Amino acid sequence: MNPPLKNDRLEWLQGPTATSDQAAKCSAVPAKRKNPWRLVLLGAPGVGKGTQAELLTERLGACHLSTGDVFRAAGKTPDCDKSAAMKAALEYMRRGELVPDSTVWDMVRERSQCILNCAGFILDGFPRTLAQAESLRKLMEDGKLALSAVINYELPLHEIVQRLSGRRTCEKCKSVFNVKERPSKAEGVCDHCAGRLLQREDDRPEAISVRLEAYERLTAPLIRFYENLGLLMPIAARGTPDEILARTIEKMNTETAEQV
Ligand code: ADP
Repeated sequence: MNPPLKNDRLEWLQGPTATSDQAAKCSAVPAKRKNPWRLVLLGAPGVGKGTQAELLTERLGACHLSTGDVFRAAGKTPDCDKSAAMKAALEYMRRGELVPDSTVWDMVRERSQCILNCAGFILDGFPRTLAQAESLRKLMEDGKLALSAVINYELPLHEIVQRLSGRRTCEKCKSVFNVKERPSKAEGVCDHCAGRLLQREDDRPEAISVRLEAYERLTAPLIRFYENLGLLMPIAARGTPDEILARTIEKMNTETAEQV
């Protein structure tokens, strides 16, 4: 049997390339449904959005569109290939601050086909401010598309801090571990590909408090925004990733018109 096809997110991660005005193309993933899932994930940093996005992506056959991943991918390109705006964005990110809305929107806009023209998406890390939510609303309205739901992952602050400070990410395959909650078998080594496990620069204690403050001030108001639109779906982010996934799917099945 062939392995399941997974979108490699090339278009999303690379955007239009410097050498051609042809956008990078993802390896195709067949549409599973006539009406694809279009989801936004909300939740404080460290709540496990990225992990859930990965699991939901596989389950729903949608594309995982993470703005944080785009910035991290851009960070790995040689300095001479980075625009001035991208260099500035990476500095904000390193400090744990939000990247300015105009930079984020430029980046998302040049990848808008990933939102408008795909077999469903899971937006992770975007929108993060009311201005970004307005930009997304306009883009979708112009494309005559609607969001299926906005999932808000909830967890008490002290658990968030523990998760962030213990998080380690594989440098090669990006699998996520936690030194306390989900340790790798050998310290510092990925269980899946034997890659090195690293702490993200913005998971250092000084950056964590900046990120949580930015979340409270700028991102938490989005909860009300989407609640008013009747799209909000709160989910307790406690338990194993599989338990949280099951909780999410159950709620999607009871609260949206379509079944997973
Ligand atoms: P987190 O684990 O904090 O949810 P992400 O991987 O989504 O992290 O993003 C990492 C960093 O990238 C953020 O702290 C911020 O600096 C920058 N970033 C990502 N998405 C956005 C956005 N939509 N608006 C502003 N900054 C963003």
